[in-house]
Amino acid sequence: MGKTRGCGHLLRRALCVLLAAVLLVPLPAVVAPDARAVTQAEIDSLKASAGDLDKQKADLQKQLKAISADKNKAMDQKQLLEQQIDVIQSEISNINQQITKYDELITQAQTGIAETQQEEAQLYELFCQRVRYMEEEGDVNYWAILFHAADFSDLLDRLIMVDEIMEYDNAVMDSLIATRQQLEENKNQLEQARTAQQAAKEKQVTARKELESREAEVDKLLAQINKEKKQVEHSVKELEALAKQMDAEIAKKQKELAAQLAAQGKKITSESGYKWPLPDYTNLSSLYAGRIDPFTGKKATHSGIDVPAPKGVKILSAKSGVVLTSAYNKGGYGNYVVVDHGNGNTTLYAHMSSRSVKAGDVVKQGQVLGLVGTTGRSTGNHLHYEIREKDVRIDPVTRYSGLTYKGKKL
Ligand SMILES: [Zn+2]
Repeated sequence: MGKTRGCGHLLRRALCVLLAAVLLVPLPAVVAPDARAVTQAEIDSLKASAGDLDKQKADLQKQLKAISADKNKAMDQKQLLEQQIDVIQSEISNINQQITKYDELITQAQTGIAETQQEEAQLYELFCQRVRYMEEEGDVNYWAILFHAADFSDLLDRLIMVDEIMEYDNAVMDSLIATRQQLEENKNQLEQARTAQQAAKEKQVTARKELESREAEVDKLLAQINKEKKQVEHSVKELEALAKQMDAEIAKKQKELAAQLAAQGKKITSESGYKWPLPDYTNLSSLYAGRIDPFTGKKATHSGIDVPAPKGVKILSAKSGVVLTSAYNKGGYGNYVVVDHGNGNTTLYAHMSSRSVKAGDVVKQGQVLGLVGTTGRSTGNHLHYEIREKDVRIDPVTRYSGLTYKGKKL
């Protein structure tokens, strides 16, 4: 093997190897921060809503402070506290969503770090290969490649090759630097997400304590109210005025929902019969229509029927339908749910301790809507139950059998 021939052979081999490197080893793409920006925007929007909740809470606190010395306003105090509880519960759910989002953010950053580290390792290996090759083929440099051109046309070919090789080497270096920066950024993101999540978790603990303390205050007020007026349920007069407003509101919402569903080619279908919402509690403490208002002592009409039951008993939907309203009503219903069964037929469940459905939910007959409580203008745990047919309130008793009232069968 002659020296000159060997050199030329070596050079051709070098070019082949270099070109092979250019053609066969594509540079890995540096991981982009892709979906992360969207998630951060979501968290920011959650934080903005949390800010609104804070304002609502502060406003309610101001109202509470203004009447806190007035013993006659115990019922109003109770309702303000319940509104605060409603806001705190929204706050807790908001923070829960934030914590979940931070979990996603942390997972994203961790995946990003793992991917970037893998790419960095690949690039570094490529870089080492290039350096080792340069070391091994010490005298073969770009100029040497050009110098060995056979003719002008060969020189042009070689120039293009050299250009590609140099570009490739530069790209390896650039990618290595970019990968290192990306890694640094991913690590910062991870750190930030962890810190922010920790802060959210601490806020959650505070919110839960606040909730407990508000609930204790409500219990204290209830005890005080019940000591003064024994066994009253709710102010019928106030609820009657409210029920009239509710008639209009429900009719309006029902029409809106029907139009919305019609646009989607849908319609609410429901059973013809009603299921009793509290299967284990069938004794009523108050009937529909006239009774003596425990607050005013005067005769007033009652917009529904009252069914005493312990706090926390499940309230079941009388029929299938779509939840029209699930909210805290500060006028007197407290936590209440209205279910739309189509054709102007709705059922309303009031004074719940908690609601387990939200407006727009599709519910089945017998599905749990919430739990028995005494929120709103109420001083004892019971369900206040209303039925509307063709948008007009009817006596719920007429739709059931087996109910009793003070020992009598209805
Ligand atoms: Zn009632």
